[in-house]
Amino acid sequence: SIKSGSKNNYAVYSLGISEQRHRHLQIEKDLYQALERQEISLVYQPQIQAAGGLIVGWEALVRWQHPEMGWISPGEFIAVAEETGLILQLGQYVLRHACRQMAIWRDLGYRDWHVAVNLSVKEFREASFLASVSAILQETDLEPHYLELELTERIAMENEEDTLQKLRYLKEQGVKLSIDDFGTGYSSLSYLPLYPIDKLKIARELVVMAEHKEEGMEIIAAILSLAHALNLSVIAEGVETREQLRFLLAQGCRQIQGYYFSKPLPPEQCVPFAQSFKV
Ligand code: C2E
Ligand code: MG
Ligand code: MG
Ligand code: MG
Repeated sequence: SIKSGSKNNYAVYSLGISEQRHRHLQIEKDLYQALERQEISLVYQPQIQAAGGLIVGWEALVRWQHPEMGWISPGEFIAVAEETGLILQLGQYVLRHACRQMAIWRDLGYRDWHVAVNLSVKEFREASFLASVSAILQETDLEPHYLELELTERIAMENEEDTLQKLRYLKEQGVKLSIDDFGTGYSSLSYLPLYPIDKLKIARELVVMAEHKEEGMEIIAAILSLAHALNLSVIAEGVETREQLRFLLAQGCRQIQGYYFSKPLPPEQCVPFAQSFKV
């Protein structure tokens, strides 16, 4: 896929095989304690309705500050967490903190925001997944419509029965559903009308490609008309430049996420950002 090798492992590529192996083992070993030691935190990136310059939501992104290795990218440790099964604990941690944060924002009056949380396949497939989402919503006293879950195309493509059943349940509860990194993975689109999806997130890779290649632009145009036909909303992610913003808006993509507006922010910077934000 276009995505492979894109953003994750620059640091790792410069290491030899044995150093890579060592780093991997170190991450595997230390991740167990990272949660207890409060080395894991969340940052939030604004999602913006470009027309009115309105913030519509925030995507929660996990961060790990390792005491010796420094900042470790989720691109590196999510995969390890999936291998070891720790993803279940990590996923719950992320969901709980994101919901708690959204409840705080709601109580401050930001009732038109949502919080978007990434799901890994393993987390989604777990038998206890739905129960754990419900429990966390209850515990944090958050109405389900404030929560958006970001699925991968892989989740959508595999195990259709299980996926459909879980998505229907979430949808009935009022949780919103989006497909992350849309356009980079599988080519089949047949699953789309099947599932109660609300939103497609156009992958950063396509946004970048569209700046240099006509084909990239055409793929984005196709995604937008597909979304229109299926009554889905669309957000483009990884938007960094005014040029990208310009052509996305011209194509009719109304929601934007990316460094152009803001990097992911620690929670205490989100409300100040919102208060001073103007397009
Ligand atoms: P993603 O969900 O597609 O998130 C977007 C990634 O692109 C984030 O990287 C974000 O910081 C980065 N990004 C945002 N705007 C821009 C931009 O304008 N330019 C560039 N170059 N990058 C931008 P991050 O935080 O390193 O996360 C990487 C991936 O790790 C995420 O991709 C997601 O798949 C996964 N991830 C992050 N947090 C979680 C989590 O809590 N749970 C799970 N299961 N996966 C997570
Ligand atoms: Mg995401
Ligand atoms: Mg994404
Ligand atoms: Mg991405």
